Amino acid sequence: MKKRRVVILGSTGSIGTSALKVARDIPDRMEVVALAAHSSADKLAEQAREFGVKHVCLFEESKAAELKKQLPTDVNVYTGLDGLCALATLAEADMVLVSIIGTAGLKPTLEAIEAGKDLAIASKEILVMAGEVVMNRAAAKGINVLPVDSEHNAIYQCLQGNHGGAEQVSRLILTASGGPFRTLPKEELANVTLAQALKHPTWKMGQKITIDSATLFNKGLEMIEARWLFNIPMERVDVIVHPQSIVHSLVEYRDGSILAQLSSSDMCFPIQYAVTWPDRVVNSLPHLNLAEMAQLKFEAPRWDDFPALNLARQAGLTGGTMPAMFNAANEVAVQAFVDGKLSFPGIWETVEKVLSASRPRDYKGSLALILEDDAWAREEAHRLIAR
Ligand code: MG
Repeated sequence: MKKRRVVILGSTGSIGTSALKVARDIPDRMEVVALAAHSSADKLAEQAREFGVKHVCLFEESKAAELKKQLPTDVNVYTGLDGLCALATLAEADMVLVSIIGTAGLKPTLEAIEAGKDLAIASKEILVMAGEVVMNRAAAKGINVLPVDSEHNAIYQCLQGNHGGAEQVSRLILTASGGPFRTLPKEELANVTLAQALKHPTWKMGQKITIDSATLFNKGLEMIEARWLFNIPMERVDVIVHPQSIVHSLVEYRDGSILAQLSSSDMCFPIQYAVTWPDRVVNSLPHLNLAEMAQLKFEAPRWDDFPALNLARQAGLTGGTMPAMFNAANEVAVQAFVDGKLSFPGIWETVEKVLSASRPRDYKGSLALILEDDAWAREEAHRLIAR
């Protein structure tokens, strides 16, 4: 039984703190060797002390001195993007858990691949923007890419034992909780407030992803993510609403059999699986009581009322830099909604306008082109919102 030595990029966020819970729970299978955070110096110092970590990175350089003061002198303190890359390629690490919000995770991820580290990816942006590059380079290097997102982790589990390749899979079926407005009439979506959008029925997550769950953009991003992770054509990536968040996703095979993965809605499950794969390890997480649950509910998504799903499918089908622009426009629109500059439906209206004005390109493995079009989409979204 191998203990995995893990670098956590984004340790103070919601995935990062869950990952540390897993590390506490299965210490003989997971060792934390490095931690990186954006700007929470105090929290990062506390985590580094608890786990005796010798390498830490604070992305925000101006707070590094504050961090250093709280750590033993033998701890190496890094900053910025270079710091993230240094951690991602540490000699003493086997696996890098990437749970940084936004595009900052892209470069460290590619460097980790080059350094031969296995990846546990929680950052959607990486696979949405550059899924093709990441998966191709990972395959060339022979490293494993374990998805941490609960849906993709579930699909990964349901694909274990499929020795017939992708052609045996007829559909990947992502489950969606439907968010807090699952049953809200379409005409009332215009009046949705920030506070309402931040109340997720089943999962506790960060602000951006919670709003994305309410608009279903989160599911849209996950559709694109799934397309690349599992190398399945976009047409075969489907969504079903499952309000209880117990079934984390399903795989339908061509003989009509469907496999599903179930557990309670705690991110520790997918994180642990990513770290211990292919092994199953005893933990202290709560087991499901199916008899108590009695029934599981499924319903069709409201494709027309929540356009994010169709926009995502379109972006995925178009490919090239389109998914990156889809993601970028959404990020800007969500921030504008948080700042009170945009209505709730304004989020998808903005993204739709940006995408129809866009000129997606085949990026041919070039990150520079992806980032260029990403920047264009952000600018265009800002321009539309300011109008
Ligand atoms: Mg998810």
